[in-house]
Amino acid sequence: MTTRRNFLKSAGMLTAAAALFNPATIFAQKGVKKSGGSKKMELSFVPFDAQMRHAFAIATSVRTTTPIVLTQITYDGVTGYGEAAMPPYLGETQASVIEFLKKVDLSKFSSPFLIDDIMKYVDSIAINNTAAKAAVDIALHDLVGKLMGQPWWKIWGFDPTVCPNTSFTVGFDTEEVVKEKTKEASPYKVIKVKLGRDEATDKMMINTIRSVTDTVICVDANQGWKDKHYALDMIHWLNERNVKMIEQPMSKYLLDETAWLTENSPLPIYADEACQRLVDIQKLKGAYTGINIKLMKCTGMREAREMVSLAEALNMKLMIGCMTETSCAISAAAQLAPKMEWADLDGNLLIKNDCYSGMTIVDGKITLNDKPGIGIEKL
Ligand code: MG
Repeated sequence: MTTRRNFLKSAGMLTAAAALFNPATIFAQKGVKKSGGSKKMELSFVPFDAQMRHAFAIATSVRTTTPIVLTQITYDGVTGYGEAAMPPYLGETQASVIEFLKKVDLSKFSSPFLIDDIMKYVDSIAINNTAAKAAVDIALHDLVGKLMGQPWWKIWGFDPTVCPNTSFTVGFDTEEVVKEKTKEASPYKVIKVKLGRDEATDKMMINTIRSVTDTVICVDANQGWKDKHYALDMIHWLNERNVKMIEQPMSKYLLDETAWLTENSPLPIYADEACQRLVDIQKLKGAYTGINIKLMKCTGMREAREMVSLAEALNMKLMIGCMTETSCAISAAAQLAPKMEWADLDGNLLIKNDCYSGMTIVDGKITLNDKPGIGIEKL
C-alpha cells in the first residue's frame, strides 16, 4: 500500500510539474482563458443599470442610477470586456448604444490586433455615439492585452509607480449630508467638489467641507459661472482655502473669457465639457492650462492615448476623469494614469453594484495591477 501511495504521490507531482510548463496553464495563470475558440471576433452586449450610493447632483441635474451597456469581444477563446456609460448630458441611451453596436461588423477584420483600422471603421459608423465607440475600444484593448499577456500601461511604456491620487467627489447636498459625505471621503487625499451654483451655495459647500477636513480640494464648476470677474473672485477665495485646481469654470463656448481667466487665475484651469476629442485640443491651447480626458467622451483608449501625446506636445497639463462607471471602464482609464497630473477615477466607488474588480485605490493612490489587458476580473 505504501508503495502504491508513493507511486500516486509521485504521479500527482509529475502531473503538477507537467501542468506548470503547459502553455495553456501559463495563459490561465495570466488570467487568459485557454485558446481553441473561433478565430473570428464576436461582439456581444447587455444593458446594465448602475445603482448610485448617493443621489448624484451637479449644477444641472440630480440622478440615482446611470445607464450602462456592458460589452464583450471574444476571439480564439479569449474574452475582452468593455463598457459604455451614459450620463444624460452626453445624449446617449442604452437603446442608442445597442442600436449602434448592432451596426458594428467586426467580421471584416482578420485580427483584433488591427486596433487602429478597427477603431477608424467604428468611428466612421456614426458622428457621435462616443460612449458606444468606447465600449468597442475598451473590449478590444482588453482582448489584445490578454492575447499579448500584458497590461496596457506596460505595453505603452508607462511607469506605474507615478500614478496620482484619485479625487473622491462630494456632491451638493445639505450641510449635514455634506459633512457626512466628507467624512466618508476621509480615505482619499483629494476631494472633488461640484460648484457652479449661486455664491452662497458654492461657499456653503466649501466652508462645510473645511469644517471637517483640510484635504486638498479640486473644484468642478461644470460651466456654472457666468461672468469672468465673478469667476476670478471665486477662484481667489477658493485659493485661500486649499483648493488646487478648477475644472470648466465657464461655458465651453466662452473661450476668450476663459483665456483671460486662465491668464489671471492663481490656480490651473482644466477643460472638461470644452474638450471632448483629440480634434478639440489645439484650439484650447492658451485658453486652458490643461484638459480632462474621459474615455466616454473621446471614444476610448486609443484616442485617449493620442490625446496624451498631443497635449504634451502643446505643453498642456493632463487629468483623467470618468462617468459613473463599473471597474471595467475605470480600470481602462487607469492605464493612462501614470501620465496624469490629476485623476478623478471614483466612478466605480460611487455605485453599489459593481460587476468587476480591477484598479484599486491604495492610501488614496491609483494602483495598477499586472493583469493583462485592462486588469479586471468579473465578480
Ligand atoms: Mg467635469
